[in-house]
Amino acid sequence: MRILIVDDEPHNRILLQQMLKSVGECDLAVDGREAVEAFMVALDDGLPYDLVLLDIMMPEMNGQDALKSIRAYEQEHGVTDTQEVVIFMVSALDTESQVVEAFFKGRCTDYITKPVRQSVLFDKLREYKLDCGPSNPA
Ligand SMILES: [Mg+2]
Repeated sequence: MRILIVDDEPHNRILLQQMLKSVGECDLAVDGREAVEAFMVALDDGLPYDLVLLDIMMPEMNGQDALKSIRAYEQEHGVTDTQEVVIFMVSALDTESQVVEAFFKGRCTDYITKPVRQSVLFDKLREYKLDCGPSNPA
């Protein structure tokens, strides 16, 4: 599957890439603006992402705004609810206002609190039917 990892901190990008490289092809973006551009190009090229991991606190464009832009672009391009990309917000911000905004205004798929644990991330992948192998690999 195709995965877009979005975080302004290099360490976080590398960490998520390490966790996910065995389950998909990972692209990286350093802020919300880059993320939205990458998302648009992928959709236009007919190679949409299956999963976007989106940090919230970033320069240029934050994750909340990037989330809204991605959903708006999907809607403009006739992507149906069942086809829309799975987006996990990945943030140290877990205040109620941030979570509510992400779910109800942004329509993120789910929300993961930093620091990210691989087991939590993979449980979420399974929950949304994204292929990540057996739950207890030998
Ligand atoms: Mg950040």
